Amino acid sequence: MDLGLAGRWALVCGSSRGLGWGCASALANEGVNLVMVARNAATLEQAADQVAMTAAGRGASTKVLRVAADIATPDGRAAVFAARREVDILVTNAGGPPPGDFRDWDRNTWLQALDANMLAPIELMKATVDGMAARGFGRVVNITSSAVKAPIDILGLSNGARSALTGFVAGLARTRKLAGANVTINNLLPGGFDTGRLQRVMAQAGKNYEEEAASRLQAVPAGRFGTPGEFGAVCAFLCSVHAGYLTGQNILVDGGAYPGTH
Ligand code: NAD
Repeated sequence: MDLGLAGRWALVCGSSRGLGWGCASALANEGVNLVMVARNAATLEQAADQVAMTAAGRGASTKVLRVAADIATPDGRAAVFAARREVDILVTNAGGPPPGDFRDWDRNTWLQALDANMLAPIELMKATVDGMAARGFGRVVNITSSAVKAPIDILGLSNGARSALTGFVAGLARTRKLAGANVTINNLLPGGFDTGRLQRVMAQAGKNYEEEAASRLQAVPAGRFGTPGEFGAVCAFLCSVHAGYLTGQNILVDGGAYPGTH
């Protein structure tokens, strides 16, 4: 299926590794030009070269700009928009907050989680969606978490910050000014994906990787973790010309782990 995206510009945050990288790669393979953002310049350069080379190998012509910046800060976002102001596609993403006990979290801990997982996506949308609407095409995909539908006790910072973003998006996506101008906004909710983050969270649990993985996979009907490539493919479809009537949704990609119907 031709996704109809060749020549568009996408800003993909947190894209040097993991799920963000999967989204950047899938879009580049469709001929989308990218602004890739991550904090570590060396890792970002390597990832961006790889994305560009793979896309070229598949015959896709794509430009890849790289911005080493912290997307959770105003300075980081200013650096991104200095590199490229207008984008047709926005994929918001940043590292998830650490697990813990809410008794140990002070105001500053909460503000960091809100900055990264609620306010940064909102600021990025604020800076881009009206331009998308004026040009008659826009796609926003926020990478959130399956914890929005099924909160996990030790991930209270993530549950709180991402639920706040989810509520905000539910309203914004349904405004006539955006939905009526072919600008869609959806949240993509990962379950268990085999990325650096998952490996770090499992290591923090202090258990043997294989044992911990086996115990987590008992709750996943697919019997395996997802791959960044699979996640990126769903993201690319949501960004495609075919998904113009799909907005304001929270889409789980979790191998069937969530047991409910909505
Ligand atoms: P990852 O650690 O593998 O990759 C995160 C990427 O984001 C890296 O490129 C990193 O450099 C970049 N990044 C992090 N914070 C940033 C910031 N402030 N500014 C710019 N770049 C930043 O993580 P992942 O597994 O790809 O997870 C992506 C998101 O999805 C996270 O918020 C995570 O909590 C969430 N999530 C992941 C899973 C999973 O199973 N992997 C499950 C649920 C939710």
